Amino acid sequence: MTNSVPEIPLPGSQSIPQLGFGVFQVPPQDTPETVRQALAAGYRHLDTAAMYRNEAGVGDASRTSGLNREDLFVTTKLWNSDQGRKPATRAFARSLDQLDFDYIDLYLIHWPVPSRDLYVESWRALIELQEEGRARSIGVSNFHIAHLERIIEETGVVPAVNQIELHPGHQQPELRDFHRRHGIVTEAWSPLGQGAALNEPTIAEIADELGRTPAQVVLRWHIQLGNVVIPKSVTPARIEENFDIFGFELGEERMRRLAQLDAGKRIGPHPDEFAKA
Ligand code: NDP
Repeated sequence: MTNSVPEIPLPGSQSIPQLGFGVFQVPPQDTPETVRQALAAGYRHLDTAAMYRNEAGVGDASRTSGLNREDLFVTTKLWNSDQGRKPATRAFARSLDQLDFDYIDLYLIHWPVPSRDLYVESWRALIELQEEGRARSIGVSNFHIAHLERIIEETGVVPAVNQIELHPGHQQPELRDFHRRHGIVTEAWSPLGQGAALNEPTIAEIADELGRTPAQVVLRWHIQLGNVVIPKSVTPARIEENFDIFGFELGEERMRRLAQLDAGKRIGPHPDEFAKA
């Protein structure tokens, strides 16, 4: 079995590494060092957002890593208060400037914010950014089926990715099925349930059976489902542990036991209601 990270093709010529590194809640001053550790461990896919206020640290660690820009895959996201056609274009330019990059690999609308009803206009702005080549791929985050249907119907452009809350306690089978039918890549945020999934007895049991850690079992489960995962850690040993998930496999019986843990229980806000500016 290989130890390298599989890539999932996206529309066009890009592909996305199935394992990435998330930096939500990594303080801006610590971000360059944390990202350097992740790159040293082997991660080549980084997930930030304008709202995390640490894009500059992600850019800094990337530019000083000695790696070619083309060998990295960097995602950032449009914040809620910047939705709308012109504001979205301006916010993208600010993110590009913070990262100090010529292009972004994947640009996402962070939340649909249905109460403002600007997500279709924002999506049109992202389509233009992709046409200009400044965003190589475009997608969304926290979109439900109705939001996805609407942007597809009104623009004819299917998002490459939907980044959603997804972990053993919240498996979102209907949304994943919709993604499968429309060729949208499912990307899991809080893939470890922000650590909560790791105390689940079934997961601890499977980890014991395989001589692996609970985090490795959960991340491996995502990989075998075909999800992209972006675990976050500021702890060097965990950064390495979370990367070491390609040397074992979960058989069908263990995948079934993990499927039974779905309790439809979110840890984050509800996408139909979340409107924080
Ligand atoms: P995760 O599920 O990745 O969990 C992170 C937590 O788990 C941290 O407290 C971390 O601790 C701990 N942890 C990590 N690895 C291990 C391990 N091997 N053993 C034990 N504990 C571990 O949650 P996040 O919410 O950070 O989600 C990951 C990424 O998803 C974010 O960083 C962000 O990029 C993205 N995201 C996107 C959202 C969206 O709306 N689009 C919303 C939320 C997240 P420590 O750091 O102390 O080691």
